[in-house]
Amino acid sequence: MKYTSQRGTRDILPEESYKWQALETACRRLFSLYNYQEIRTPIFEASELFVRSIGEATDIVSKEMYTFQDKSGRSLTLRPEATAPVVRAGLQHHLISKDKLTKLYYIGPMFRYERPQAGRYRQFYQAGVEAFGSNDPALDAEIILLAEQIMNRLGIKDLEVNVNSVGCEGCRKTYSTKLKTYFSTYASQMCEDCCVRIETNTLRVLDCKNKQCQEFIDKAPTLLDELCAPCKDQFDKVLSWLQLYGLKYVINRRMVRGLDYYTGTIFEIISKKLGAQNAVCGGGRYDKLVREFGGDDVPAVGFAFGLDRIVEILNAETRNLEPATKKLIYLCTIGEEAEKIGAELIYKIRKLGFPAEMDYLKKNLKSQLKEASRIKAKFALILGEDEIKFNNIILRDMEQAMQEVIPMANILERIDTI
Ligand code: AMP
Repeated sequence: MKYTSQRGTRDILPEESYKWQALETACRRLFSLYNYQEIRTPIFEASELFVRSIGEATDIVSKEMYTFQDKSGRSLTLRPEATAPVVRAGLQHHLISKDKLTKLYYIGPMFRYERPQAGRYRQFYQAGVEAFGSNDPALDAEIILLAEQIMNRLGIKDLEVNVNSVGCEGCRKTYSTKLKTYFSTYASQMCEDCCVRIETNTLRVLDCKNKQCQEFIDKAPTLLDELCAPCKDQFDKVLSWLQLYGLKYVINRRMVRGLDYYTGTIFEIISKKLGAQNAVCGGGRYDKLVREFGGDDVPAVGFAFGLDRIVEILNAETRNLEPATKKLIYLCTIGEEAEKIGAELIYKIRKLGFPAEMDYLKKNLKSQLKEASRIKAKFALILGEDEIKFNNIILRDMEQAMQEVIPMANILERIDTI
C-alpha cells in the first residue's frame, strides 16, 4: 500500500456511510421543522476571520488551526468551526439584519489539529444551526430543545444537558479581574500555558485540562455568581423556558466553551455512553459577533453537533439506521442478445424508482446468482435464450428461492408490486 489516509482523518466506508446519510437526513428534517434553511460556506476562509472571532488565546486558534499561505501569500485556514463563516456569509449576502429573524443551518467537515483519540479527529463533521436577530430567552430555549429533539429522534438516551451563562462584556470584565487576582496567587504552581493565560485571557485558564491546575480551577470563583442583573434575569428566563418545555438540565457553573465569542447562555450536551470526549453538542449565544464583523448590533444564538460522536453512540447501541430503500434487483443475462434487451429493461426499472444492477463481468448464470446474493439483491431477473424466444422473463425471490415466469410485457407492472 503506497498511500494511507492522514493521521486524524478517516474514510467513511459504505458499511457505515448509510448511517451518516440517515443521521444527516434526520438533522435536515428537524432543522426545517424549526424553520432553518441550509447555508453552505467554503472549507477555507481568511485566517483572520477565525482569529478575531474564536480568540487568539483559545486552544483552537493558538494550537489547532490548519493555516497555510496560498500562492499569492494570503493566510488561509481550513475552517475549525462554522459559526464565523456563517456570520461572514450572512453579512456578505445581506441575510442578517436588525429586527429580522434569520435561521440558518449547515452540515459539513471541520478541521482541527488536535491529538487524535477515540471521538477526536482532525477532520470531523458538524451539523449546526445559527439564529440571528433576537435575544429572546425563548429562542435560547428553543435551540436547546431542538438539539435535544434530534437526539430524541435518533433514540439516543443517557444524555445530560449542561447549561451555564458567561454573561455580557460588563460582568465578564468584573469577573476577569477577580479571577486574575485569584489565579495570580497560585501561578507558581500552575502550568506554563495557564501562567500566560492569567495575563492574556484569564477566563481561558478555566479550560485547562492539566492535572496540576485542576485543584485551583475547581476552587475558583464562578461567573454565574458574578452575573450582572440583566444577565442573571436573561439566564433565569432561559431556565424557566426549559422548565416549560419539560426539558431536564443541569446548571454547570464550571463550564466554559472553548471559543471567546460567546455571551450569555452557553450549553453542552454530554453523552454518558462516550469516553473522555463525551460532548456531542455545544452552543450558546454570541450577541457581539455580527457587530464585530462589521454588521449591525444583531444578537445571535446557535449550536454545533459532533456527527462523528453521534455515529459512535449509534454504533455502540447497534441501532439500525438503514433507510427504508426500495428492494434491489439484480438482472442476470445469458448471451449477447439478452444483455442488450436486459440493458433496456434495467434502464426502465431504474426509471420506475427501483435500484438495479446487472452483470458486467460476463459471468455464467450460477455466478451471477451468487453475485446477486452477495450484494443482497431481494430479487433476480433471469433472461436467457428460452425467455427471449417466448417473450418471457424469470423473477426470482432470492430469500425464498422461488421463481415465476412472467411475460416480458408485464414485468414492470409486476416489479411495481414488490
Ligand atoms: P465545539 O465547536 O468545540 O463547541 O464542538 C462542538 C461539537 O463538535 C463537540 O461537542 C463535539 O461533538 C464535536 N467536536 C469538536 N471537536 C471535535 C473533534 N476534534 N473530533 C470530533 N468531534 C469534535
